[in-house]
Amino acid sequence: MRSSKRHLLGLTTAAVMVASVGVLALPLSSDNWASTPHWSYSGKSGPSHWSSMGPSFVVCGNGKAQSPIDLESRDAKTGKADEFHIDYEKGAVALVNNGHTVQANVSDAKDTVVFDGDTYRLAQFHFHSPSEHTTDGTRFPLEIHFVNEDGRKRVVVVGVMVKLGKQNESLASVLRALPASEKETSKDTRPPVTVDLGSVLPHDHGAYVYAGSLTTPPCTEGVHWVVLKEPIQMSSDQIASFTRLFPDNHRPLQKANGREIDNESD
Ligand SMILES: [Zn+2]
Repeated sequence: MRSSKRHLLGLTTAAVMVASVGVLALPLSSDNWASTPHWSYSGKSGPSHWSSMGPSFVVCGNGKAQSPIDLESRDAKTGKADEFHIDYEKGAVALVNNGHTVQANVSDAKDTVVFDGDTYRLAQFHFHSPSEHTTDGTRFPLEIHFVNEDGRKRVVVVGVMVKLGKQNESLASVLRALPASEKETSKDTRPPVTVDLGSVLPHDHGAYVYAGSLTTPPCTEGVHWVVLKEPIQMSSDQIASFTRLFPDNHRPLQKANGREIDNESD
């Protein structure tokens, strides 16, 4: 059974519908653009300055559907069910430190998300410390973003919160292989790591679904967000294996501007 509740953030009556996102070609990352300004998470190149760092970054400041946002369950109400289904499997990933996070590039084509009837393939996943989204005001130690893309370069990001708890066996291979220091960059070649991505996700795929943006410059909008409600666990040592490299790589919360949040389960 699929259940669905709809949650309206803010009081505007001209709510932005999830279905109105439309078709946009999104650059998954600006990291390969030679002319990209050097942005960061603090100081003069931090989030409040991103929009003035270059013409391609202006939407970071003037966009009306930016991410991340706080996701609140208390106002959830019944609405239509937007279909999504996540089907990830065991495979090899290649880890790179891109200077903003550690990213695991996925080359297998078999990891998919079906969203509104369209199939998106997992391109990469990466980590944020602490979490970028909050749920009912709660911020988690880590948030993992699984970035999925379709043939038209549209993007669905599945967000998974990480809370402090048991050792995470599913992600142990990835966490053990994280770069030893922040100085180790994508120029270093590392052997691929095998990880069972299906078992990384929580059992319950109930999620907040909303229309947002990339949380890093150029902050492109048109991203379908699927933030799973159930957090996964990691031990303090495992969390520290990422935070010692990136103590803080989260973008602050953005204005919801009346966007609707669909409360879905697959
Ligand atoms: Zn991210």
